[in-house]
Amino acid sequence: MNKRVEFPVLPFDKQLLSLVVPLFNERPMLPLFFDRVLPVLATLNLRWEVVLVDDGSDDRSAQYIRNVIDRTPGVRLVKLSRNFGKEAAMTAGLEHARGDAVIVLDADLQDPPEQIPAMVECWQSGVDVVLMQRRSRAGETAFKRWSAHLFYRLLNRTSRTNIPVDTGDFRLMSRKAVNALLGLKERNRYMKGLFAWIGMPTQVIQYDREPRVAGETKWDYPGLVGLALEGLTSFSISPLRWATVIGLMAATMGAVFGLWIVVKAIMLGDATSGYPSLVAIISFLGGIQLMSVGIVGEYVGKTYIESKQRPVYLTEEVFESREGLRQQAS
Ligand code: UDP
Ligand code: MG
Repeated sequence: MNKRVEFPVLPFDKQLLSLVVPLFNERPMLPLFFDRVLPVLATLNLRWEVVLVDDGSDDRSAQYIRNVIDRTPGVRLVKLSRNFGKEAAMTAGLEHARGDAVIVLDADLQDPPEQIPAMVECWQSGVDVVLMQRRSRAGETAFKRWSAHLFYRLLNRTSRTNIPVDTGDFRLMSRKAVNALLGLKERNRYMKGLFAWIGMPTQVIQYDREPRVAGETKWDYPGLVGLALEGLTSFSISPLRWATVIGLMAATMGAVFGLWIVVKAIMLGDATSGYPSLVAIISFLGGIQLMSVGIVGEYVGKTYIESKQRPVYLTEEVFESREGLRQQAS
Protein backbone atom coordinates (compact mmCIF):
# COMPACT_ATOMS: atom_id res chain seq x y z
CA MET A 1 0.00 0.00 0.00
CA ASN A 2 2.74 2.43 0.91
CA LYS A 3 4.72 1.63 -2.19
CA ARG A 4 5.79 4.77 -3.89
CA VAL A 5 4.48 4.96 -7.41
CA GLU A 6 5.89 7.39 -9.90
CA PHE A 7 3.49 8.90 -12.39
CA PRO A 8 4.99 10.00 -15.66
CA VAL A 9 3.75 13.40 -16.70
CA LEU A 10 2.15 12.96 -20.10
CA PRO A 11 0.96 15.63 -22.51
CA PHE A 12 -2.80 16.03 -22.02
CA ASP A 13 -3.80 14.55 -25.36
CA LYS A 14 -1.97 11.33 -24.52
CA GLN A 15 -3.63 10.90 -21.15
CA LEU A 16 -6.34 8.33 -20.79
CA LEU A 17 -9.70 9.09 -19.19
CA SER A 18 -11.77 6.14 -17.96
CA LEU A 19 -15.49 6.27 -17.38
CA VAL A 20 -16.65 3.63 -14.94
CA VAL A 21 -20.34 2.83 -15.30
CA PRO A 22 -21.99 0.31 -12.96
CA LEU A 23 -25.24 -0.96 -14.38
CA PHE A 24 -27.92 -3.38 -13.37
CA ASN A 25 -30.87 -4.03 -15.68
CA GLU A 26 -30.50 -0.76 -17.56
CA ARG A 27 -31.32 -2.09 -21.03
CA PRO A 28 -33.87 0.69 -21.78
CA MET A 29 -31.26 3.31 -20.84
CA LEU A 30 -28.32 2.03 -22.85
CA PRO A 31 -29.02 3.55 -26.32
CA LEU A 32 -29.69 6.93 -24.72
CA PHE A 33 -26.58 6.55 -22.60
CA PHE A 34 -24.25 6.01 -25.54
CA ASP A 35 -26.00 8.73 -27.56
CA ARG A 36 -25.23 11.26 -24.88
CA VAL A 37 -21.87 10.10 -23.59
CA LEU A 38 -19.94 9.31 -26.76
CA PRO A 39 -20.33 12.79 -28.35
CA VAL A 40 -19.09 14.41 -25.13
CA LEU A 41 -16.04 12.14 -25.06
CA ALA A 42 -15.31 12.96 -28.69
CA THR A 43 -14.92 16.64 -27.82
CA LEU A 44 -12.19 15.93 -25.25
CA ASN A 45 -8.54 16.33 -26.07
CA LEU A 46 -7.79 13.01 -24.41
CA ARG A 47 -7.81 9.32 -25.09
CA TRP A 48 -10.77 7.69 -23.37
CA GLU A 49 -12.28 4.35 -22.46
CA VAL A 50 -15.70 3.43 -21.10
CA VAL A 51 -15.68 0.56 -18.63
CA LEU A 52 -19.23 -0.73 -18.24
CA VAL A 53 -19.74 -3.10 -15.35
CA ASP A 54 -22.71 -5.38 -15.85
CA ASP A 55 -23.74 -6.17 -12.30
CA GLY A 56 -25.60 -9.38 -13.13
CA SER A 57 -28.33 -7.88 -15.33
CA ASP A 58 -30.86 -10.36 -16.65
CA ASP A 59 -32.35 -8.11 -19.34
CA ARG A 60 -29.80 -8.68 -22.11
CA SER A 61 -27.92 -5.45 -21.31
CA ALA A 62 -24.68 -7.34 -21.96
CA GLN A 63 -25.73 -8.37 -25.47
CA TYR A 64 -26.51 -4.78 -26.37
CA ILE A 65 -23.19 -3.57 -25.02
CA ARG A 66 -21.30 -6.25 -26.93
CA ASN A 67 -22.86 -4.93 -30.14
CA VAL A 68 -21.72 -1.43 -29.22
CA ILE A 69 -18.22 -2.75 -28.51
CA ASP A 70 -18.07 -4.21 -32.03
CA ARG A 71 -18.65 -0.72 -33.43
CA THR A 72 -16.88 1.44 -30.86
CA PRO A 73 -13.25 1.01 -29.89
CA GLY A 74 -12.60 2.08 -26.33
CA VAL A 75 -15.75 0.57 -24.86
CA ARG A 76 -15.19 -2.34 -22.51
CA LEU A 77 -17.59 -4.59 -20.64
CA VAL A 78 -16.81 -6.27 -17.35
CA LYS A 79 -19.50 -8.83 -16.71
CA LEU A 80 -19.87 -9.89 -13.09
CA SER A 81 -21.03 -13.40 -12.31
CA ARG A 82 -24.18 -12.21 -10.50
CA ASN A 83 -25.65 -9.09 -8.92
CA PHE A 84 -23.18 -7.91 -6.28
CA GLY A 85 -24.65 -4.44 -5.71
CA LYS A 86 -23.54 -1.04 -6.90
CA GLU A 87 -20.71 -0.69 -4.39
CA ALA A 88 -19.07 -3.91 -5.58
CA ALA A 89 -19.73 -3.06 -9.24
CA MET A 90 -17.97 0.28 -8.81
CA THR A 91 -15.03 -1.45 -7.18
CA ALA A 92 -14.84 -3.84 -10.13
CA GLY A 93 -14.92 -0.92 -12.56
CA LEU A 94 -12.21 0.97 -10.71
CA GLU A 95 -10.01 -2.11 -10.67
CA HIS A 96 -10.44 -2.61 -14.41
CA ALA A 97 -10.01 1.06 -15.37
CA ARG A 98 -6.62 1.94 -16.80
CA GLY A 99 -7.04 5.69 -17.02
CA ASP A 100 -4.89 8.48 -15.64
CA ALA A 101 -8.19 9.79 -14.35
CA VAL A 102 -11.40 7.91 -13.68
CA ILE A 103 -14.95 9.23 -13.61
CA VAL A 104 -17.71 7.21 -11.97
CA LEU A 105 -21.04 7.74 -13.70
CA ASP A 106 -24.50 6.16 -13.31
CA ALA A 107 -25.92 4.47 -16.37
CA ASP A 108 -29.30 6.14 -15.92
CA LEU A 109 -27.98 9.58 -17.00
CA GLN A 110 -28.89 11.13 -13.66
CA ASP A 111 -25.28 12.28 -13.62
CA PRO A 112 -25.17 14.52 -16.70
CA PRO A 113 -22.25 13.53 -18.95
CA GLU A 114 -22.13 17.15 -20.18
CA GLN A 115 -20.27 17.91 -16.93
CA ILE A 116 -17.33 15.73 -17.95
CA PRO A 117 -15.29 18.46 -19.72
CA ALA A 118 -15.54 20.72 -16.65
CA MET A 119 -14.42 17.86 -14.42
CA VAL A 120 -11.48 17.08 -16.67
CA GLU A 121 -10.48 20.74 -16.68
CA CYS A 122 -10.43 20.77 -12.88
CA TRP A 123 -8.31 17.64 -12.79
CA GLN A 124 -5.86 19.08 -15.31
CA SER A 125 -5.48 22.13 -13.10
CA GLY A 126 -4.01 19.79 -10.51
CA VAL A 127 -6.61 18.40 -8.09
CA ASP A 128 -6.92 14.69 -7.39
CA VAL A 129 -10.62 14.52 -6.72
CA VAL A 130 -13.41 16.46 -8.43
CA LEU A 131 -16.57 16.07 -6.40
CA MET A 132 -19.92 16.63 -7.99
CA GLN A 133 -22.39 18.20 -5.60
CA ARG A 134 -26.10 18.20 -6.33
CA ARG A 135 -27.59 21.65 -6.39
CA SER A 136 -31.03 20.19 -6.95
CA ARG A 137 -32.45 16.71 -7.00
CA ALA A 138 -35.15 16.62 -9.61
CA GLY A 139 -37.41 13.59 -9.57
CA GLU A 140 -36.79 12.69 -5.94
CA THR A 141 -39.48 12.81 -3.30
CA ALA A 142 -39.34 15.30 -0.44
CA PHE A 143 -39.18 12.36 1.97
CA LYS A 144 -36.12 10.89 0.24
CA ARG A 145 -34.38 14.27 0.34
CA TRP A 146 -35.23 14.75 4.01
CA SER A 147 -34.11 11.28 5.03
CA ALA A 148 -30.87 11.64 3.07
CA HIS A 149 -30.19 14.95 4.81
CA LEU A 150 -30.84 13.44 8.25
CA PHE A 151 -28.61 10.47 7.50
CA TYR A 152 -25.63 12.57 6.43
CA ARG A 153 -25.90 14.71 9.53
CA LEU A 154 -25.96 11.63 11.73
CA LEU A 155 -23.07 10.06 9.87
CA ASN A 156 -20.89 13.14 10.07
CA ARG A 157 -21.65 13.56 13.76
CA THR A 158 -20.55 10.04 14.53
CA SER A 159 -17.47 9.47 12.41
CA ARG A 160 -14.24 11.32 11.94
CA THR A 161 -14.40 10.95 8.19
CA ASN A 162 -16.32 13.93 6.92
CA ILE A 163 -18.65 12.82 4.15
CA PRO A 164 -19.72 15.85 2.10
CA VAL A 165 -23.48 16.46 1.92
CA ASP A 166 -25.35 16.04 -1.34
CA THR A 167 -22.59 14.26 -3.17
CA GLY A 168 -23.14 10.84 -4.66
CA ASP A 169 -20.74 8.55 -6.43
CA PHE A 170 -20.46 10.90 -9.43
CA ARG A 171 -16.88 12.16 -9.27
CA LEU A 172 -13.50 12.24 -10.98
CA MET A 173 -10.47 10.69 -9.36
CA SER A 174 -6.84 10.89 -10.43
CA ARG A 175 -4.85 7.66 -10.77
CA LYS A 176 -3.26 8.47 -7.41
CA ALA A 177 -6.68 8.66 -5.74
CA VAL A 178 -7.92 5.50 -7.45
CA ASN A 179 -4.85 3.55 -6.33
CA ALA A 180 -5.32 4.81 -2.79
CA LEU A 181 -8.95 3.71 -2.88
CA LEU A 182 -8.10 0.28 -4.21
CA GLY A 183 -5.65 -0.09 -1.35
CA LEU A 184 -8.60 -0.16 1.06
CA LYS A 185 -9.26 -3.86 1.15
CA GLU A 186 -12.40 -4.13 3.26
CA ARG A 187 -15.26 -6.28 2.03
CA ASN A 188 -17.99 -4.01 3.35
CA ARG A 189 -17.61 -1.40 0.69
CA TYR A 190 -19.50 1.70 1.65
CA MET A 191 -18.02 3.69 -1.23
CA LYS A 192 -19.09 7.17 -0.19
CA GLY A 193 -17.22 6.65 3.05
CA LEU A 194 -14.17 5.14 1.36
CA PHE A 195 -14.08 8.00 -1.15
CA ALA A 196 -14.08 10.47 1.72
CA TRP A 197 -11.58 8.53 3.78
CA ILE A 198 -8.74 8.91 1.28
CA GLY A 199 -8.88 12.71 1.43
CA MET A 200 -6.53 14.32 -1.19
CA PRO A 201 -6.86 17.77 -2.82
CA THR A 202 -10.51 18.09 -3.77
CA GLN A 203 -12.57 20.52 -5.73
CA VAL A 204 -16.36 20.67 -5.68
CA ILE A 205 -18.47 21.40 -8.75
CA GLN A 206 -22.21 21.96 -8.38
CA TYR A 207 -24.66 20.51 -10.84
CA ASP A 208 -28.35 19.81 -11.22
CA ARG A 209 -29.23 16.18 -10.81
CA GLU A 210 -31.61 15.07 -13.49
CA PRO A 211 -34.53 12.69 -13.10
CA ARG A 212 -34.04 9.17 -14.39
CA VAL A 213 -34.87 9.07 -18.11
CA ALA A 214 -36.00 5.46 -18.40
CA GLY A 215 -36.07 2.28 -16.36
CA GLU A 216 -36.50 2.51 -12.62
CA THR A 217 -34.48 3.06 -9.48
CA LYS A 218 -32.91 -0.03 -7.94
CA TRP A 219 -33.19 1.36 -4.42
CA ASP A 220 -36.18 0.72 -2.22
CA TYR A 221 -36.41 1.97 1.35
CA PRO A 222 -35.29 -1.27 3.05
CA GLY A 223 -32.25 -1.16 0.75
CA LEU A 224 -31.49 2.44 1.67
CA VAL A 225 -31.90 1.73 5.39
CA GLY A 226 -29.46 -1.17 4.97
CA LEU A 227 -26.98 1.10 3.20
CA ALA A 228 -27.40 3.72 5.92
CA LEU A 229 -26.69 1.18 8.69
CA GLU A 230 -23.74 -0.08 6.67
CA GLY A 231 -22.40 3.46 6.40
CA LEU A 232 -22.87 4.20 10.08
CA THR A 233 -21.22 1.02 11.32
CA SER A 234 -18.42 1.01 8.74
CA PHE A 235 -17.13 4.42 9.62
CA SER A 236 -17.48 4.70 13.33
CA ILE A 237 -17.81 2.65 16.44
CA SER A 238 -19.73 5.35 18.27
CA PRO A 239 -22.97 3.29 18.28
CA LEU A 240 -21.10 0.96 20.64
CA ARG A 241 -20.38 3.94 22.82
CA TRP A 242 -24.00 5.05 22.71
CA ALA A 243 -24.97 1.62 23.99
CA THR A 244 -22.59 2.05 26.92
CA VAL A 245 -23.84 5.57 27.68
CA ILE A 246 -27.51 4.60 27.47
CA GLY A 247 -26.81 1.59 29.68
CA LEU A 248 -25.09 3.82 32.23
CA MET A 249 -27.97 6.27 32.20
CA ALA A 250 -30.53 3.52 32.66
CA ALA A 251 -28.52 2.03 35.52
CA THR A 252 -28.26 5.43 37.24
CA MET A 253 -31.97 6.01 36.86
CA GLY A 254 -32.65 2.55 38.28
CA ALA A 255 -30.41 3.20 41.28
CA VAL A 256 -32.03 6.55 42.04
CA PHE A 257 -35.47 5.02 41.72
CA GLY A 258 -34.48 2.14 44.02
CA LEU A 259 -33.23 4.55 46.67
CA TRP A 260 -36.40 6.56 46.41
CA ILE A 261 -38.49 3.40 47.04
CA VAL A 262 -36.45 2.51 50.14
CA VAL A 263 -36.67 6.05 51.47
CA LYS A 264 -40.40 6.12 50.79
CA ALA A 265 -40.89 2.78 52.57
CA ILE A 266 -38.98 3.92 55.65
CA MET A 267 -40.43 7.41 55.89
CA LEU A 268 -43.98 6.87 54.72
CA GLY A 269 -44.36 3.15 55.44
CA ASP A 270 -45.60 2.71 51.88
CA ALA A 271 -43.91 -0.52 50.82
CA THR A 272 -46.33 -2.32 48.53
CA SER A 273 -47.19 -0.22 45.50
CA GLY A 274 -45.16 -0.54 42.36
CA TYR A 275 -46.37 -3.24 40.02
CA PRO A 276 -46.86 -0.86 37.03
CA SER A 277 -43.50 0.78 37.58
CA LEU A 278 -41.88 -2.66 37.77
CA VAL A 279 -43.31 -3.64 34.40
CA ALA A 280 -42.25 -0.33 32.89
CA ILE A 281 -38.70 -0.67 34.18
CA ILE A 282 -38.33 -4.28 33.08
CA SER A 283 -39.49 -3.58 29.55
CA PHE A 284 -37.37 -0.42 29.38
CA LEU A 285 -34.25 -2.28 30.44
CA GLY A 286 -35.11 -5.28 28.27
CA GLY A 287 -35.37 -2.96 25.29
CA ILE A 288 -32.05 -1.31 25.99
CA GLN A 289 -30.37 -4.68 26.42
CA LEU A 290 -31.71 -6.05 23.17
CA MET A 291 -30.75 -2.90 21.32
CA SER A 292 -27.22 -3.01 22.72
CA VAL A 293 -26.86 -6.66 21.80
CA GLY A 294 -28.08 -5.75 18.30
CA ILE A 295 -25.46 -3.00 17.99
CA VAL A 296 -22.70 -5.29 19.19
CA GLY A 297 -24.00 -7.97 16.82
CA GLU A 298 -23.77 -5.57 13.89
CA TYR A 299 -20.04 -5.18 14.52
CA VAL A 300 -19.46 -8.86 15.26
CA GLY A 301 -21.20 -9.70 11.97
CA LYS A 302 -18.99 -7.24 10.12
CA THR A 303 -15.89 -8.78 11.63
CA TYR A 304 -17.18 -12.22 10.62
CA ILE A 305 -17.75 -11.15 7.02
CA GLU A 306 -14.33 -9.47 6.81
CA SER A 307 -12.62 -12.50 8.30
CA LYS A 308 -13.88 -14.76 5.51
CA GLN A 309 -11.78 -12.76 3.06
CA ARG A 310 -14.04 -13.44 0.13
CA PRO A 311 -13.52 -11.35 -2.98
CA VAL A 312 -15.79 -8.31 -3.30
CA TYR A 313 -17.04 -9.51 -6.70
CA LEU A 314 -16.40 -12.22 -9.29
CA THR A 315 -15.82 -11.42 -12.94
CA GLU A 316 -17.41 -13.73 -15.45
CA GLU A 317 -15.96 -12.25 -18.61
CA VAL A 318 -14.38 -9.09 -19.97
CA PHE A 319 -15.26 -7.97 -23.49
CA GLU A 320 -13.20 -5.54 -25.48
CA SER A 321 -12.81 -4.83 -29.17
CA ARG A 322 -9.56 -5.76 -30.88
CA GLU A 323 -9.37 -2.18 -32.05
CA GLY A 324 -9.56 -1.02 -28.45
CA LEU A 325 -6.74 -3.34 -27.44
CA ARG A 326 -4.58 -2.14 -30.29
CA GLN A 327 -5.19 1.49 -29.31
CA GLN A 328 -4.19 0.72 -25.73
CA ALA A 329 -0.99 -0.92 -26.87
CA SER A 330 0.13 2.02 -28.95
N1 UDP B 1 -26.72 -0.40 -9.94
C1 UDP B 1 -25.83 -1.49 -9.95
N2 UDP B 1 -26.10 -2.58 -9.17
C2 UDP B 1 -27.18 -2.63 -8.34
C3 UDP B 1 -28.05 -1.50 -8.31
C4 UDP B 1 -27.78 -0.41 -9.11
O1 UDP B 1 -24.85 -1.48 -10.68
O2 UDP B 1 -27.36 -3.64 -7.66
C5 UDP B 1 -26.45 0.76 -10.80
C6 UDP B 1 -27.63 1.21 -11.64
O3 UDP B 1 -27.73 0.47 -12.83
C7 UDP B 1 -27.30 2.66 -11.90
C8 UDP B 1 -26.60 3.08 -10.62
O4 UDP B 1 -26.16 1.87 -9.99
O5 UDP B 1 -26.41 2.82 -12.98
C9 UDP B 1 -27.50 3.87 -9.70
O6 UDP B 1 -28.67 3.12 -9.43
P1 UDP B 1 -30.11 3.78 -9.32
O7 UDP B 1 -30.31 4.76 -10.41
O8 UDP B 1 -31.09 2.68 -9.23
O9 UDP B 1 -29.99 4.53 -7.93
P2 UDP B 1 -30.52 6.01 -7.58
O10 UDP B 1 -30.03 6.93 -8.67
O11 UDP B 1 -31.99 5.91 -7.54
O12 UDP B 1 -29.89 6.30 -6.26
MG1 MG C 1 -30.38 6.71 -10.56
